Amino acid sequence: MDNNEIVLYSRECPICLSESPCQRCVFTGCGHCLCRACAEQIAMEAGVSHKPVCPLCRTHSTTRPLIEMKEIEFDSFNDESKPVYPELLQNLPSPRLEELIQTFLRGEIDEETYIICYDMRLAEEACHRGINGGRPDDVYVEEYKRLMAILPYDGYFDNLAIDAAEATMRMEKQRIIDELRGQDNESGRYSRACGNCSSLFPFHRCVFKECGHLICRSCSDEMKSRSQIICPFCMKESETVPLFEHQIEA
Ligand SMILES: [Zn+2]
Ligand SMILES: [Zn+2]
Ligand SMILES: [Zn+2]
Ligand SMILES: [Zn+2]
Repeated sequence: MDNNEIVLYSRECPICLSESPCQRCVFTGCGHCLCRACAEQIAMEAGVSHKPVCPLCRTHSTTRPLIEMKEIEFDSFNDESKPVYPELLQNLPSPRLEELIQTFLRGEIDEETYIICYDMRLAEEACHRGINGGRPDDVYVEEYKRLMAILPYDGYFDNLAIDAAEATMRMEKQRIIDELRGQDNESGRYSRACGNCSSLFPFHRCVFKECGHLICRSCSDEMKSRSQIICPFCMKESETVPLFEHQIEA
């Protein structure tokens, strides 16, 4: 079949049945997707030292937010004149980083600083994992501290106490989950376009396990024949996993 034939796919969360979640997560071990709120809830209930279990197939694996773009964002993503990073805006761990990204989008900081902060976002996530008793990644924690010291944001991230109490984190997590649920079903149409080959309606898609970026199955297969698979959007080395997706019956 033709990759450009329009077939609609469901984004419904199989757990809470939200029809169009504002964000989704994939279980990297199996490729099943849930809305991010349900995925966060499951991870929270699993406890911090266990990998969450996919409720659809019982595989233990980590979850990763999918980086999906709305149709309108895909249009601006293709327009090279605009330095817009919609994928970042979708997966913000904290309002402070959102503020930072908005600062960049307003042109008040340069791209180099911004890119450092992108790395910092990963570091910050790693710190949160550490706080939650997950697998703290010392390298990230060190890198985070180093960046704290050199970035021109005195006091900007002070509130991120690396030894913050787990109870506080759980409250924060619950707040985020509630907020995500509140945003579900008002989030508009999402693009299925492959940002790599620009095929607009691929039948099957794969997700990069390390970053959550999506590509079409053909692009993924082509990459698998190479010695090293690198996400073309963020340049991270990462395996891909096929995404479970269901077509909507016409
Ligand atoms: Zn859900
Ligand atoms: Zn599964
Ligand atoms: Zn493709
Ligand atoms: Zn990526």
